[in-house]
Amino acid sequence: MNLVLFGPPGAGKGTQAKILTEKRGLPQLSTGDMLRAAIAAKSELGLKVEAILARGDLVSDDIVIGIIGDRLKQADAANGAVFDGFPRTIPQAEALDRLLAANGKQIDAVIELKVDEAALLGRAEQRVQDARAQGKTPRPDDIPETVKNRLDVYRQNTAPLVEFYRLQGKLKSLDGMAPIGDVTAAIDAALG
Ligand code: ADP
Repeated sequence: MNLVLFGPPGAGKGTQAKILTEKRGLPQLSTGDMLRAAIAAKSELGLKVEAILARGDLVSDDIVIGIIGDRLKQADAANGAVFDGFPRTIPQAEALDRLLAANGKQIDAVIELKVDEAALLGRAEQRVQDARAQGKTPRPDDIPETVKNRLDVYRQNTAPLVEFYRLQGKLKSLDGMAPIGDVTAAIDAALG
């Protein structure tokens, strides 16, 4: 099964993706995690994208489509995957459809986590505090100004995907404000 977890920054995509991968034995394909790993490794890709992530802007479609295309060739993605933070633009969604179709596959469902904006800013602040409390470095893009930019970028570039997937009959919208366990239960119910 190929699933897309969809929603604004801080909606809980990563949290639910991890639960889904454990329950269903599917790999979590998070472009954000892959880009952060490249930055940590100081690879050529990492150096190229570091400032873009720090600003909260989008990395180019070519780059992320390339990363996902390579990742899909690995054996663990043969039976499906949970896409987290990808696609984020219409061209990325079209590319994902093409990549999957080339192997006779398709997106089975798109789970949209709906969350109100004030809560998203609060969640980012909480994430910074949690990281500090654990002695870890917070994500540089979780500072309030950058979160606001990420939300603008989401509204402008990513929100149109709701209509794209609705037209494909794949969209399942859930309340992302509910407690984590309730969101998980709602996802299970939506997937049948
Ligand atoms: P969040 O969903 O909380 O914003 P992510 O970890 O998914 O966090 O993404 C972090 C950053 O990585 C984004 O703000 C963007 O700069 C970059 N990024 C991740 N995925 C993509 C993508 N599919 N297309 C373009 N940029 C991306």
